[in-house]
Amino acid sequence: MTELSLRRMTKRFGRLTAVEDVTLDIPDGTFVCLLGPSGCGKTTLLRLLAGLETPTEGQVIVAGEDQTTVPPEKREFGMVFQSLALFPHLSVADNIAYPLTIRGRSKAEVRERVETLLDLVQLSDLGDRRIHQLSGGQRQRVAIARGLAIDPRVFLLDEPLSALDANLREHMQVELRQLQQRLGVTTIVVTHDQKEALTMADVVIVMNEGRVQQIGSPMEIYRDPANAFVAGFIGTSNLLPCTLNTDRSIEVFDYRFDVEEEDRLKSDPGAGLVLSVRPEDVRLEAPSTGIPAKVIFIRDLGESIQFVLDQGDHEIYALYAPSARPDIGLGEEVGVTFAPGKRVVFPA
Ligand code: ATP
Repeated sequence: MTELSLRRMTKRFGRLTAVEDVTLDIPDGTFVCLLGPSGCGKTTLLRLLAGLETPTEGQVIVAGEDQTTVPPEKREFGMVFQSLALFPHLSVADNIAYPLTIRGRSKAEVRERVETLLDLVQLSDLGDRRIHQLSGGQRQRVAIARGLAIDPRVFLLDEPLSALDANLREHMQVELRQLQQRLGVTTIVVTHDQKEALTMADVVIVMNEGRVQQIGSPMEIYRDPANAFVAGFIGTSNLLPCTLNTDRSIEVFDYRFDVEEEDRLKSDPGAGLVLSVRPEDVRLEAPSTGIPAKVIFIRDLGESIQFVLDQGDHEIYALYAPSARPDIGLGEEVGVTFAPGKRVVFPA
């Protein structure tokens, strides 16, 4: 069932269009990440969903009902803000209880629910602590528990993990995902961190300049980017100028190869197009094969070895597993080719 839909949603702030003509359907129980560069409209879209912003145009539909004019507190959504917005003078338990007490729930009900939530986020022993006596990760959990207090229809989180250091952040990504799976609550998380989005989400919505660029599973977004923006934003892509010929061959610099069945062509034949290839799909061969280039940098990343190649006008990135590392050294001339079936051609 579709829990949440946006219909042609647009939000303008004066002359600036923060969100432009966004239509999407989010099925019940889905974990969605809204991903995009700074200023692309992620937070505004989340606030439109929550009812914290009034759309310039468009509708929010929840379970088939138009909620566009319903005030935020009546939408029964849970929210976690980037700042967490916890009350420092209240205990952990009182922070979590807050959304329930302002809704006039009975003391007994509140106590029981808070206990369940403390247990859920593994803070059962810390209910009486003040917020300033907690670690960053613990504060994060309090904010998540408070967001879940009302048993929300939809759980919205704006960059909830951005203040945490890398290790704790990865840990919390897994924890948040597991929690969401256990509860089955439709969850939308804003992030500008693609790794975070690809780790947690069932569905990633990639935005740029207020517009949705692609909606898909992490695998689809990574393997089959809809356009050059997504290819460039997600992971590292080599984006090289190319020509697509009517005989289904592709020319990159002076190297020409035939299109294979699995290659994805997102443009009609023509010049001035872009070929996108992931570094792991770049192959380094003898100089007589492929695009002539020179190795200008080799970096051992632990789980992989990165080669940076200078082609003249462009740098090309290649990535090899340590076990498959080619016997090629710094300064050597090579021929660059691309794994058949892993090549995408876009309009520039
Ligand atoms: P970030 O990752 O940096 O938080 P974002 O993708 O969440 O960015 P938004 O906060 O949604 O982006 O902002 C989108 C655009 O709308 C930006 O250009 C921002 O300056 C503008 N904007 C957001 N809120 C307002 C406001 N209340 N008044 C005027 N402009 C705003």
